[in-house]
Amino acid sequence: MATQQYPRARKRFGQNFLHDEAIIEAIIEAISPEPGQHLVEIGPGRGALTQPLLAHCDRLDVIELDRDLVPLLSQKLSAHEQVLEIHQADALRFDYHSLQRSNEKLRVIGNLPYNITTPLLFHLLAQGDIIDDMCFMLQREVVERICAAPGNKQYGRLSIMIQHQCAATQLFVVPPEAFDPPPKVESAIIYLQPLSQNRGGEVELAALNRIVTQAFSQRRKTIANTLKKLVTSETFEQAGIDPSQRPETVSVEQYVQLTQGFLQQQRT
Ligand code: SAM
Repeated sequence: MATQQYPRARKRFGQNFLHDEAIIEAIIEAISPEPGQHLVEIGPGRGALTQPLLAHCDRLDVIELDRDLVPLLSQKLSAHEQVLEIHQADALRFDYHSLQRSNEKLRVIGNLPYNITTPLLFHLLAQGDIIDDMCFMLQREVVERICAAPGNKQYGRLSIMIQHQCAATQLFVVPPEAFDPPPKVESAIIYLQPLSQNRGGEVELAALNRIVTQAFSQRRKTIANTLKKLVTSETFEQAGIDPSQRPETVSVEQYVQLTQGFLQQQRT
């Protein structure tokens, strides 16, 4: 199908379409779809990933916001209508449970619009019980922040909130030339697998987010100083944290402990 019949790429929908065949192949290999699996693609666009995925899976649901792209995609992939369902919808509001046919878990993939990455990851993780794994193209900087370990300067709120709920691995970097139009920044592929038990134990996510956001609100200060109104010195001690530590040196498990201490104190 000639590309001329597509509308111009829309910036507000974060449209940077993949056209590098080697990169597309590497992404499909990273996903390694197998017969019997149920895949969900977010933002199929012109079908750069959708088409090769269809050759490997039995069920593929795609969620695309752009009303103008949906009929073109549907026409292009009409031969696959028994396997493929196109949903014209906002991935940020989508109920992923509605896609399940029985008890199967979903494999979610996508070259994501960068402007919705963080809220989308949290929306998906809120439905993490039905997600087997996720493989996404994101801004390289965001992938590095998500995967960063304590002590790394990229380590922060995003690393902790995601690593509490997922195993996160950076797979490979993708240069801007792989897209049309090329984005201004480098991209990278991330693999995320929701954990059966959250790292550090169960804790109210809103409370964890509050503690972590506060801890990183002044990166240069010690953790005891930034959290002094929320966490007691006893809780720091129980979590094995030296009050002079900086927020980026505290592990995910320790942030969970601080939050548990904070919640306990609120109840008493
Ligand atoms: N998968 C295609 C590719 O790799 O060439 C397109 C990727 S492009 C970076 C992002 C796609 O997500 C676009 O097709 C865009 O219209 C779509 N999109 C943007 N916001 C969306 C949303 N909230 N829900 C679903 N799709 C969205």
